[in-house]
Amino acid sequence: MTNAKEYIQQVQQSLHEKDHDQTEFLQAVDEFFSSIAPFLAEHSEYQKHNLLQLITLPERVIQFRVPWQDDNGNWQVNRGYRIQFNSALGPYKGGLRFHPSVNLSILKFLAFEQIFKNSLTDLPIGGGKGGADFDPKGKSDNEIMRFCQSFMTELAKHVGPNTDVPAGDIGVGGREIGYLFGQYKRLRQYDAGVLTGKPLEFWGSKVRTEATGYGVVYYVKHLLEDKKDNFKDKTVVISGSGNVAIYAIEKLIELGAKAVTASDSNGYVYDPEGIDLDVLKEVKEVQRERLTAYAKKRPNAQYFDGESVWNSEIQADIALPCATQNEIDIKKAKLMVANGVKVVAEGANMPCTMEAAQYFIEHNIFYCPGKAANAGGVAVSALEMAQNSQRQQWSKDEVDKQLDDIMLNIYHNCRDTAERYGQKDNFMMGANIAGFAKVAKAMLAQGLV
Ligand code: GLU
Repeated sequence: MTNAKEYIQQVQQSLHEKDHDQTEFLQAVDEFFSSIAPFLAEHSEYQKHNLLQLITLPERVIQFRVPWQDDNGNWQVNRGYRIQFNSALGPYKGGLRFHPSVNLSILKFLAFEQIFKNSLTDLPIGGGKGGADFDPKGKSDNEIMRFCQSFMTELAKHVGPNTDVPAGDIGVGGREIGYLFGQYKRLRQYDAGVLTGKPLEFWGSKVRTEATGYGVVYYVKHLLEDKKDNFKDKTVVISGSGNVAIYAIEKLIELGAKAVTASDSNGYVYDPEGIDLDVLKEVKEVQRERLTAYAKKRPNAQYFDGESVWNSEIQADIALPCATQNEIDIKKAKLMVANGVKVVAEGANMPCTMEAAQYFIEHNIFYCPGKAANAGGVAVSALEMAQNSQRQQWSKDEVDKQLDDIMLNIYHNCRDTAERYGQKDNFMMGANIAGFAKVAKAMLAQGLV
C-alpha cells in the first residue's frame, strides 16, 4: 500500500488523463483531494477498497435530447442531462440548471460537490445534478412550459421520490418546477416528493425559496458569534440577483448589516445606502427584468455595465459571491482583501477558483466554501421531502428554526473537523473531510456497490 498522498496523486492523475476535457469537474475534484490526505492516512481500509476511484465516478450519467417547438413553430433541440453521482446516503438529490453554458463537466462538478454538501446537512440525501444547455433568457412563458414538458418526458424515466429528487438551480425556479411537476404527474402519478422547490400551493415548503440565501447568512452569523462579533453595521458586497442573493440581502438587512451591491450577467449595481429590497424584488421577481431597471428606480445607485463587482474598490467587511462558478480569480481575491474583506462565504457553487480560495485561507480570511455555506437550500429541500412524506406542511417558523439549527451544525462540524486535523479555521478542509467521512463510511458499510 502506498501512503495517502501518493494514493491521492495516482487517482488524480488517472482522472486528469481520462476526463481531461472536464475542467470544472477536475477543479472540484482537485480542491477535494487537496484536503483529505490527513483523513485518508488514518483510514488505510479506504485505499484497499479503492474508495477514491469509486467516489469520483458517477454511479450513472443520463444524457438525452430535448426537442421543443418555439413560438414561431420552429423545432429546437437542446442537450439534457442527469448525473446520479452517489446514493450512499439516500436518493440522489440536487438541482437542475438551465443555462447555455451547461455541459457534462459543469454538471459533474456540481453533482460531485452536492455529495458532500448533502452529507453535511446530516439529512438522508445522496448527490446528483442535472439540467440542459437551454437558455431561458428571452423565452416566452409558453416556450418555457413546452421545454419543461419535453425535458420531463425523458427525465420521468429516471426520477422518483425514493430514487432521484431534482430541484431548481440557475434558470430553474418555482415556475419551471411547476411545469416539470405537471408533466411528471401526467406521465406517472401524483408523487409529491419527486421534485422540491415546488410552489406553496402544491406541497412546496415554506422558506424553500429563501433557504439558500438565509442559510449563507446564518452560517456567517454563527461564525461571527463564535468570534464574538455580529452583523451590526457590517458592509456586505454581494454578486448575483437570483433567489440566493435576494434572500441573503433580506436576512442581512434583518440582522443589521448593509448590502450594497447586486449583479447580473450584464453588470453590477452599487447602491451606497444599501440595496432597496422591495425595488430589487419588484424588478427581478415580478417584472423579470435586468438590473438596469433597478438602477433607473434608485437615483443614488450606480450601474456598471459589463463590469464585475469583484473588480471594484468598494470597501466591505464581508463578501457573498452568489452568482456562478469561477467568478473570483486570484487577482480579484487580492483586490477583495485589499478592500478590507474579512469573510468570504459562497452562496454560489465554486465561485472562487482554487487559487483564490487558497489565497483567502493563507491570508487568514474566513473562507466558507459553498458545500457548507450554501447547503441551506438543499437542506430545506430535504425538509420538503419529509413534509411530503408526512402529507403535512410545517409553519414558516418551524422550517426557519430547523434551517438555522442545520447551519449551526454544519458550521460546528467544519470548524471542529478542521481543528482536529490541525488546521484551525480552514473550513475548506473541514467541509471536505466532514462531508466525505460520512459518505465513505456508508459506502463501505453497504458493501461493494
Ligand atoms: N441547486 C441547489 C444547490 O446547489 C439546491 C438543490 C436542491 O435543493 O436539491 O444545492
